[in-house]
Amino acid sequence: MRPPYLLLDIDGVLIPFPDADGSTPGTHARHDVVPTGRSADDPVTIWLNPAHGPMLMDVIRTGLVTPAWCTSWRQDATTLIGPLLDLPPLPHVDLPRPNITTSHPNGYLWKRDHVDAWLGDARAVWIDDDFTDLDHVWATERTARGMETLLIQPDPRVGLHAEHLTEVRTWMERLPVPTGAPAASSGNEAA
Ligand SMILES: [Mg+2]
Repeated sequence: MRPPYLLLDIDGVLIPFPDADGSTPGTHARHDVVPTGRSADDPVTIWLNPAHGPMLMDVIRTGLVTPAWCTSWRQDATTLIGPLLDLPPLPHVDLPRPNITTSHPNGYLWKRDHVDAWLGDARAVWIDDDFTDLDHVWATERTARGMETLLIQPDPRVGLHAEHLTEVRTWMERLPVPTGAPAASSGNEAA
């Protein structure tokens, strides 16, 4: 069985929303980036926490999850955002550009149907700030069908915290051992 995916959102997770007065967290450094399709003289200002790169790498290096971007930054996540956090090139979920005015056009996160198809029967831990109750129901139903799915939902005004990644590690270390794979604890089990 393949390692589960670790799906990573950016806006509201790595780039928290500014406060009402426009201020951004002191932990985050400002950068100007030029997303695909935008003119070089019209950059977008973002803010990133340099500690997030090492925190994410600690999880990625375990090899227990396969990381992938899942964000409306699409390919720019790999080419623009990842390098600012010293992250290696990661695959991304190839999300479309729907003509929608809300992130929950059907009562749940617009990305979800695409993620569902992209995952197939893979297990996943998905970090995004914008899930609804219906997304949590979806995750519970996937898990019940043997496709363990964990949703982690940071506060978009705070973004990713170390505790979220602790939750990822706890979850991936407790996943059932796939049938046929050698169980690490098999030698200790009583007959
Ligand atoms: Mg988001």
